[in-house]
Amino acid sequence: MYIVPEKEIAALLTRADAFTAVENVFAAMSKGDAYNFPVIREAIGYENALYGFKGGFDKAGMALGLKAGGYWPNNMEKHGAINHQSTVFLFDPDTGKVSAMVGGNLLTALRTAAASSVSIKHLARKDAKVMGMVGAGHQATFQLRAALEQREFEKVIGWNYHPEMLPNIEKIANEAGVPFEAVALEGMVEADVVISITSTFAPTVMAKHISPGTHVACMGTDTKGKQELETALLAQATVFTDEVAQSISIGEAQHAIAAGLIKQSDVNELGAVINGTHPGRTSDDEITLFDGTGVGLQDLAVAASIVKLAIAQGIAIEVDF
Ligand code: NAD
Repeated sequence: MYIVPEKEIAALLTRADAFTAVENVFAAMSKGDAYNFPVIREAIGYENALYGFKGGFDKAGMALGLKAGGYWPNNMEKHGAINHQSTVFLFDPDTGKVSAMVGGNLLTALRTAAASSVSIKHLARKDAKVMGMVGAGHQATFQLRAALEQREFEKVIGWNYHPEMLPNIEKIANEAGVPFEAVALEGMVEADVVISITSTFAPTVMAKHISPGTHVACMGTDTKGKQELETALLAQATVFTDEVAQSISIGEAQHAIAAGLIKQSDVNELGAVINGTHPGRTSDDEITLFDGTGVGLQDLAVAASIVKLAIAQGIAIEVDF
């Protein structure tokens, strides 16, 4: 088996590689060539940690395996380590033998950013000019950096529950040469694309904050009970997701479904848009909404491409296991 340590990932994986791997796997899922296993996520009753497994099998990309990991809220304070910790394990689909172990922290940020970027590519208006960010934590920086590559954005506007964190995303906008402005939530009406990436359990983005024609990528809700958006917004929007089963159980759609505002059949696969079997956005006034719940197959696809690059560059550590 090969080991690719966390410290090697930054130099190996480009945003473009992550984007391609995620776009391909969403397409494969929608064709029925790849499927995710049910997610296990447990509050382990220690360190307030949430721990679990996301796995799957992609027959098109021949990737089998799982990502193990979760969220340790006290890591930064106590250990100087980021709060999300994960590792990907890949297995040989022909034999079941473990084939690789790959650091999953940066990989998770890049594959999550790639997912919202894929949604922007396929669903946002081509003339989108104002990028809106709700959230300014660890993931938000990756989200913004990747999103800014998808359209000719002229301005970034940002809101965060903890305003002192806004410089995190202002820095990314500045690096990309795009002006940044901190706004009240009401100011989000100016945005053509909104990414929401927070850990809240109570909705902050209301229907009145989003203008007709906007594309919203809701990326923070990945657990039962979390909620970033007012349910009325999902009722107004055309809703897309990475995987319908996750969207309606642990994603943003869980709340709109429970409230009876939308049905499971109203939640569409982004992969169908990529494959051309769903038209995607059909008018400039339509609100499109991507419920990005984060699927194991994203991790496996990106990990598999990292392993190939690491072997080619002589960085992968080979272990007789
Ligand atoms: P973080 O701890 O670095 O940042 C948390 C963010 O949420 C900050 O912007 C913070 O101000 C905001 N926030 C906290 N409490 C809030 C509240 N009550 N109301 C509004 N905003 C609040 O976390 P992170 O690593 O950036 O992760 C953000 C979220 O993204 C988490 O919920 C995480 O589980 C989720 N996530 C999703 C995926 C996916 O694939 N969809 C992948 C990774 C992380």
